[in-house]
Amino acid sequence: MLIGVLALQGAFREHRRALAKAGAAAREVRLPAELEGLDALVIPGGESTTIGKLMVSYHLLESVRELAAAGLPVFGTCAGLVMLAREVVEGEQPLLGLMDIRVRRNAFGRQVRSFEADLDLPLLGKEPFHGVFIRAPWIESAGPGVEVLAEYQGHAVAARQDNLLVTAFHPELTEDLRLHRQFIGMAASLTPWR
Ligand code: GLN
Repeated sequence: MLIGVLALQGAFREHRRALAKAGAAAREVRLPAELEGLDALVIPGGESTTIGKLMVSYHLLESVRELAAAGLPVFGTCAGLVMLAREVVEGEQPLLGLMDIRVRRNAFGRQVRSFEADLDLPLLGKEPFHGVFIRAPWIESAGPGVEVLAEYQGHAVAARQDNLLVTAFHPELTEDLRLHRQFIGMAASLTPWR
């Protein structure tokens, strides 16, 4: 299992480390050629406007969009969730637009830019998942094909749609590998994705 980690900006090193600990080989992706042969891709947190602009200038937006539309499993965290969304509530920015979700950026307000909270995430079992939220988005609305996996204060903060998995928080900043393992398992079950 070879998983790419989009490494243009943001917390890509932490994802690489988490994937390695969870038993998957990981490759940093900065060029379209580095997408070749991947079983799955992670889009990390960071700043989605920056990641989007860099994806355009590195000719990655189109290629990632095509691969994911063809079935490549993709895990987007925080800014990665924003990148995967069909739409953001305010503003214009380059998006992959693959997941049927409408996303509010920096949704939890200025006064609580960052916080941590234990989340009920039944897909992973009874043990709550410790969510690290950093200027996090939430999913404002989701289409019928989207399965919401966790909510915080009534807002969807983790979801899945076919080959796409997203969280508004940063599992790579904790020692809990369950979400990375879940994604690796999901990717394995979808292999070969084309
Ligand atoms: N606020 C950032 C954005 O909208 C996301 C923050 C993060 O990835 N930690 O892109």
